[in-house]
Amino acid sequence: MRYFIGNWKMFGVPKSINLLKKINLFHSKDKNRKKYRVIVTPPYTLIETYAKYFKNKNISIGSQNCYHKGQFSSNTAAVSPYMIKSVGAKYTLIGHSDNRSEGDTNEMLKSKVQLALKNNLKVVFCIGENKSEKKNKKTFKVLKEQISKVLDRKLNKQNIIVAYEPIWSIGTGKIPTKKELEKTTGHIKKVLKEIFKKSPAVLYGGSVDEGNVRMFKEIKEIDGFLIGGASKSSKKFIDIIKNYYR
Ligand code: PEP
Repeated sequence: MRYFIGNWKMFGVPKSINLLKKINLFHSKDKNRKKYRVIVTPPYTLIETYAKYFKNKNISIGSQNCYHKGQFSSNTAAVSPYMIKSVGAKYTLIGHSDNRSEGDTNEMLKSKVQLALKNNLKVVFCIGENKSEKKNKKTFKVLKEQISKVLDRKLNKQNIIVAYEPIWSIGTGKIPTKKELEKTTGHIKKVLKEIFKKSPAVLYGGSVDEGNVRMFKEIKEIDGFLIGGASKSSKKFIDIIKNYYR
């Protein structure tokens, strides 16, 4: 199974559903449709409406983050996995670098993953090194630490996807070389196998577009994509899928 996940970040209003309707229509006619899943993580404000609309269709809805404690609480602006699940989301991103940079610690991320799984959300756990870690050849160490401090063998790996997103690549148009990616994704799967025996799916994220997607296809350890900027255009998103299977 392959995954194409669109992360809308802080974009989208109710009428942006039209973009997803076009992707859904494409998917319903695509001869390759059984080979992949489309998931979109809009802002919290749109989850309920979109999840209702796409309930029996081809797009699953997820959240971009979730709170790390409880079901309900007096914490202003916090949204729990329980609340996210209750409005129809099936997935949640956890550990996106945007949230790590705003204070998410490994401890909090571990708690988020456990709580999300307990509430029957599938988790897309994001990891990735920053520019200076890459420059100082710390990538392998950083990735191993990010994984092993949060994931453990007691978790249900069927409901976990790992997204490798080098921070220096997000929104910059810069992507790793094929050789770099073969090494890093191989390393990630090795670390995951040490924990789970069989590795969960590993996605790549960072400046994926309709032009570079074919290069990523050549890397056998990549099971799909987390797509930011290009997911805000139905044409680009559809072209990424089309070009992947071309
Ligand atoms: C992201 O923010 O998760 C992302 C991958 O963004 P972009 O595709 O724009 O680099």
